[in-house]
Amino acid sequence: MAEKVIIIGSGPAGWTAAIYAARANLHPVVIEGAISEENRLAGTLPLGQLNLTTEVENFPGFPKGILGPELMMNMREQAEGCGTRIITEDVSDVDLSVRPFKVTDTAGTTHEAYSLIIATGASANYIGLDSESRFKNRGVSACAVCDGALPRFRKRPLVVVGGGDSACEEGTYLTKFASEVHLVYRKSRAEMRASPVMVDRITANPKVRPEWHSVVEEVLGDDERGMTGVRLKDVRTGETRTVEAAGMFVAIGHTPNTKFLKGQVETDPQGFIKLTEPFRTMTSVDGVFAAGDVADPIYKQAITAAGMGCKAALDAERWLAHHHKLPAGEPHGSQWNVG
Ligand code: NAP
Repeated sequence: MAEKVIIIGSGPAGWTAAIYAARANLHPVVIEGAISEENRLAGTLPLGQLNLTTEVENFPGFPKGILGPELMMNMREQAEGCGTRIITEDVSDVDLSVRPFKVTDTAGTTHEAYSLIIATGASANYIGLDSESRFKNRGVSACAVCDGALPRFRKRPLVVVGGGDSACEEGTYLTKFASEVHLVYRKSRAEMRASPVMVDRITANPKVRPEWHSVVEEVLGDDERGMTGVRLKDVRTGETRTVEAAGMFVAIGHTPNTKFLKGQVETDPQGFIKLTEPFRTMTSVDGVFAAGDVADPIYKQAITAAGMGCKAALDAERWLAHHHKLPAGEPHGSQWNVG
């Protein structure tokens, strides 16, 4: 029998969608992702990007902060407690050309669903150095807003890598905490991809030391202290130099996790799922909704993802009711009180 709604993904968007869908009697199924070495290396284990961070200080409701993994386990437990069924596999394939939709997981089971909520998030891009992996969460981060205010970074020199708006925004943000910020970009100031106003702002900041034409060749540190610096290479001359730094924030873009859709849902040129109506969660496929970072090229915050998850569940509930896709007599919730 087809499910009313399958939610793919298990970050804040997925669990919030599940909580709302469960309370609407939609008996949601969450396919949360597989626990595998491949997913660990790719940063796509279940529970999303928050599960990869340490202290979370900007999620409302936790005045003393909460550990990212704890927050995510709480969300999972809450969704399960509401009646969500959880499948710990990846989705390998979907067929959105048929009704109900077909979703095949990596165990080989094909599930059917009248509606889908895609909440698979985005994975931060990293440079790809072994030394970078070694110091993840011990100096290396891909999220200044999540981690920048941590004690280990305060009044210490930091490195930001990238030449886009994210690098400028994160670098400028980090000057609030750091003694200085080394902005490492592989090309010149004139070639930066960021908007001119962002370039002007960061380069005018007295705490910022631009490192033009430079790449990080190695992250330096030890087990006791974590990261202590980086070795930079000038891409024109090949010369190397060491920069002392307590942290390195990689801001070289995110990749939305949409590969499994194989082009069946429309995306923007960066790969983010396109939402077809302002402030809503509908996608190019009727009955398929998207929430969180997979459909958000701008905010990319846990709290905005959770809010979108809520909206997606309400949109799916209303869609199921209005399109009479539920078998006759099936109860469904009535959380909607909007026209
Ligand atoms: P982006 O615009 O794609 O820029 C990525 C930067 O990382 C580029 O400068 C690129 O260098 C560099 N890079 C990529 N791979 C690298 C590697 N392996 N090693 C070293 N450097 C590497 O990404 P983004 O800055 O995350 O921005 C994404 C989108 O979000 C953009 O549309 C941006 O406008 C938007 N955004 C807007 C705001 C805002 O308006 N407040 C804030 C953040 C993001 P090259 O330049 O050499 O290619």
